[in-house]
Amino acid sequence: TWEYAPAPESRDIANLKPSYRMFVDGKFVEGAGEPLKTINPATEEVLAEVSTAAPSDVDVAVKAARRAYDKVWGRMPGAERAKYIFRIARMIAERGRELAVLESLDNGKPIKESRDTDIPTASAHFFYHAGWADKLDYAGYGPSPQPLGVAGQVIPWNFPLLMAAWKIAPALACGNTVVLKPAETTPLTALVLAEIIQQADLPPGVVNIIPGAGGVGAELVNHPQVDKVAFTGSTEVGKLIQGSLAGTGKKLTLELGGKAANIVFEDAPLDQAVEGIVNGIFFNQGHVCCAGSRLLVAESIADELMEKLRTRVSTLRVGDPLDKNTDVGAINSSEQLARIRELTQAGEDEGAERWTSSCPLPDKGFFFAPTVFSNVSQAMRIAREEIFGPVLSVLTFRTPDEAVAKANNTPYGLSAGIWTEKGSRILWMAEKMRAGVVWANTFNRFDPTAPFGGYQESGFGREGGRTGLEAYLDV
Ligand code: NAD
Repeated sequence: TWEYAPAPESRDIANLKPSYRMFVDGKFVEGAGEPLKTINPATEEVLAEVSTAAPSDVDVAVKAARRAYDKVWGRMPGAERAKYIFRIARMIAERGRELAVLESLDNGKPIKESRDTDIPTASAHFFYHAGWADKLDYAGYGPSPQPLGVAGQVIPWNFPLLMAAWKIAPALACGNTVVLKPAETTPLTALVLAEIIQQADLPPGVVNIIPGAGGVGAELVNHPQVDKVAFTGSTEVGKLIQGSLAGTGKKLTLELGGKAANIVFEDAPLDQAVEGIVNGIFFNQGHVCCAGSRLLVAESIADELMEKLRTRVSTLRVGDPLDKNTDVGAINSSEQLARIRELTQAGEDEGAERWTSSCPLPDKGFFFAPTVFSNVSQAMRIAREEIFGPVLSVLTFRTPDEAVAKANNTPYGLSAGIWTEKGSRILWMAEKMRAGVVWANTFNRFDPTAPFGGYQESGFGREGGRTGLEAYLDV
């Protein structure tokens, strides 16, 4: 173990303030809820105090969004909306360094990921959707598709700014206004986005950002003046929301959990597959809804692949999220760390073979060493439940049909990966997979032009691409 304290200048680069307020009706205001303290999961130190919304604040925010929709944004020509959205996209890119450091401080993710993935992809999302704002009339939705009104949006902690971008950009492009609740452990970059939105001169009330715990989310999605609900988070909470909205006529999209299969055939380029497996499960500490958390490997190459995989995983550096050489950062919270520990213990108890990287871990902060379970059977909890951590469960198969059956043997259906040199097999497999995204010879590739979303208990609706816009329009 080793001591770790982030360099003091990181706070300056992140422009970290001692306290943050909510953003409602174009202004930063104090919420009436109990303030929350957001911590750096790599050190357990408090980063900042954040104002939260009480039910009365949720009401004020939704009414501000309603007014902004009725009076300004819902009537504005698409070409005008586009100018604002392009401006937000540019400003995110301009403040990329600050946002990347802040995201890594608040979330624990490695700086190379926030710098190269989270922030640029968030900016790209606004650029892409800005381009749609003036083209909706001719995009094949029929004459004059209408926005829905006020969107109530609730997001998780694993990609805080990126999830905010996935939610806000399409809503604005289509002419809706927004009230967004960030996750309680990662509210900071959403509040900097609010600052950007204010500086981009968006009319007051078009976007409102109200931090708080789950209760604020429940208050928001159930508010009678919210017309559309977009939720990303756990399947458990997704089901609760779906139940509570039944019969209200509100439009709903749910992006929930996953237990993706990453399938390696005997003809796969093994070294490339190993990189894809590592990226699939250790990217963002495995806090990824579409993580390749179940490796299905052809029995004939299993030994060779496992040896290569362990050698590669041993080289991963775990620790300081702000060190650009770090591969695996901090687990986002002590609760999440406890859940990972519980499930890995269950894996051992149920008889799977555990291998853990011997990399040193800092003694403070929430860290978990990359772990690989082999001899996993489909009935084990580690093969069925979402661990949402740097833990891979390995199963084997003999025939393509068996691979399909095992891959689809899950209540989820968000993503899958296939590694093979055979193009025909890729097409055959992709058709048989019950998963919203199927990657071939790559994994975890995100692009605003591609619709993303699940089957079954991974939720419904799509985000991204032309299909994603349908969730924010009456066609
Ligand atoms: P969570 O469901 O506990 O929380 C998600 C958000 O919902 C948070 O902002 C939380 O405050 C809020 N919330 C909690 N209870 C609520 C309620 N009753 N009503 C309204 N809002 C409520 O999930 P989490 O632990 O923050 O995130 C991890 C989960 O998110 C994982 O299961 C992961 O797979 C999923 N996820 C899915 C996607 C996707 O696109 N499918 C993307 C990222 C994360």
